[in-house]
Amino acid sequence: MKFICSNCGKELCLEPQIYEQSYKGYEVCMDCRPKHGGKREGAGRPSLGTTKKVSITLPDQVWEEIYQRKGKKPLSAFFRELVLEIRDEKS
Ligand SMILES: [Zn+2]
Repeated sequence: MKFICSNCGKELCLEPQIYEQSYKGYEVCMDCRPKHGGKREGAGRPSLGTTKKVSITLPDQVWEEIYQRKGKKPLSAFFRELVLEIRDEKS
């Protein structure tokens, strides 16, 4: 199979199997496609927002309840979800 990259003009001779797997439906060669898994800005977990540290004072009984309710969730995730829930209710 002949494949000509519409970006760099490179001409490739490909096994039909490889063409089917990696080139069918594409206009450009591997080198001209956006790379996946490479190091790039903003790669990895998408940001949830800005992190701010807070100290919260609560009776031990309340803390106990919180720890029971949150289960295996990190405390930060528990509070984030709580806040977002309240926010959604208001709107
Ligand atoms: Zn190319």
